[in-house]
Amino acid sequence: MRSTLFAAVLLVSVPAVAQPSYDAAPLLESLRENERARVPRQAGGPAHELPLYALTIDLDDDLSSFEVEETVWWTNRSGRSLSSVAFRIYVNAVSPSPLVTLVEGSCLDNVSCTTTMPSASALVVEPAHAIPDGGALRIRFRLRGRLQEIDPSRTTLLGQGIESLGALSGGHGSGDYGLLAQSDGVASMASFFAVLARQRAGIWEISDTSTLGDLGSDALAHVSARVRTPDGVRVVSVGVEEPPRVLGDRSETRIRAAFVRDFALVASARLEHLDRDVGGVNVRSWFVRGHDAAGARALDAAAHSMRIFSRRFGAYPWTELDVVEAPLVGGAGGVEFSSMVTVANMFYAPVEASGQGGLLGQLLGGAGASSMESRRQSMLEFVTAHEVGHQWWHAIVGSDSRAHPFEDEGLAQYSAMLYMRERYGAARASAETEQQVTAGYHMMRLMGHADAPVDQPVSAFADPITYGGIIYGKGPHLYAELRQLLGDAAFFRAIRAYVSAHRFGEAPPRSLVRSMARGPRAARVRALTARWLEETHGDEDLGQPDLGHMLGGAGGDPQLQVLQRELMRALGGAGGSGPDAEALQEMLRSLSGGAGGGTSPGLDGLLRGLLQNGAP
Ligand SMILES: [Zn+2]
Repeated sequence: MRSTLFAAVLLVSVPAVAQPSYDAAPLLESLRENERARVPRQAGGPAHELPLYALTIDLDDDLSSFEVEETVWWTNRSGRSLSSVAFRIYVNAVSPSPLVTLVEGSCLDNVSCTTTMPSASALVVEPAHAIPDGGALRIRFRLRGRLQEIDPSRTTLLGQGIESLGALSGGHGSGDYGLLAQSDGVASMASFFAVLARQRAGIWEISDTSTLGDLGSDALAHVSARVRTPDGVRVVSVGVEEPPRVLGDRSETRIRAAFVRDFALVASARLEHLDRDVGGVNVRSWFVRGHDAAGARALDAAAHSMRIFSRRFGAYPWTELDVVEAPLVGGAGGVEFSSMVTVANMFYAPVEASGQGGLLGQLLGGAGASSMESRRQSMLEFVTAHEVGHQWWHAIVGSDSRAHPFEDEGLAQYSAMLYMRERYGAARASAETEQQVTAGYHMMRLMGHADAPVDQPVSAFADPITYGGIIYGKGPHLYAELRQLLGDAAFFRAIRAYVSAHRFGEAPPRSLVRSMARGPRAARVRALTARWLEETHGDEDLGQPDLGHMLGGAGGDPQLQVLQRELMRALGGAGGSGPDAEALQEMLRSLSGGAGGGTSPGLDGLLRGLLQNGAP
């Protein structure tokens, strides 16, 4: 309801320029044909009212620096007049020093604006006149950035295990997963340009109370990009990539992405790919040359995940899904984006090629190498399934990943458990759940952190160990319990109804369990929900930590029992002073034979427990 006076005030504040708009039709080609009409409806408005980020990205010859020219089309859909528009360059919020700098910011279409940077990760654009609800603005930024150089030894399983231990003793900040980094000729770029800040109650959020987990606004947008690289470099990204066009000794890849919540790319001359059609979706696995076996395994896991999740949760909307090996650090197993996921290259290098050996290898005798390799393969599969699960839990069904991180992470983790069960049966699924989910909770308890409620904002978690143990290790079990209580038919019917209700929207935190709390079992659904999301029964429900078991069933092996005791001692920090990270690092180094690379299956389990604590 709008009064005449209000309308008159609005008229005065509207700048005298044509409303900038763009043609969304070409972008929609990144959606499957039968999705192009319904996705805009589900997202709640015409496609051309979503923000569009038009990017021209120039990567230098050694993939170590870049320039971006960015134009943002923005329509004020906040329901109120706004005097400023705020943007974030999220990578600057998590990197120790800013990686991206603003060269220039201005408004187009004869609108005069001032641009200020209250912090390295925040940009505030203030036009001369407030923008009324429904008003539009076009903003241009020129940015310059550099990619963090990551030593390849840091991206191995052992390297990441040691780094996680270092983080325990407070040596390393959390949240930096190698979002904007280059390692061994592979560039990984995420959170590197200016995106609209999140709005809470009409206020732009220009700083973060915590940098744990995934930063980002969760909001939908379109991206149109041209990425210029040295010729021969392949660019894999969110959305659909056209084949590169050669421009002299450079080449350009054009990209279109519609209704995405983020944009990221991986670029390298060393990337190869394997493709598989899954019900009309092109599933593509990209991997570094030489990692063919892991690349094929990632493809297989992604294709089966696509098939299982499409059937159980509902249709996947984009024409393709890219699964890309990337040099992730900070303990991340993978990172999700809309229509693309990255998986850490620590899961791709074959065990025999990584200087495997050392004390634990000897302890395990001849059976060691093959079982090590099979553990690593399981982790690759589990992480791939988790990240593909995020296509439903976050990309398709949006949620507030800062206020309620359990929503998307719990369901992504449960999706990976479901993948294991549907592919390999209940026995294997239960073992994988123990090692890849519950171990995170047990590791947290071993390190002396208390159980905590699952549904809390990211900022309520004091450290990555607790965040990982509670959100990834404990929360997902709720869904297995609910499935058992409701039976398959009712459980999956409720999940599909939840997806339909919130497709390309934002799901409130209790929407799914509320839809399950119907009929005679309603009270028990509510009780289970409270038990797992709000209360602290982790020790009763998940049992006591058993490091021997986590070490791969050390059983009666006396030498492994010694190792177990030593690790316990180090983890317990003898006297409650916290884990003795230095002692652990030393132990891990000696166990692995010194050089970065291979680890034992038991050590893999241990490392996985540690790594999970930072895995997005
Ligand atoms: Zn995740």
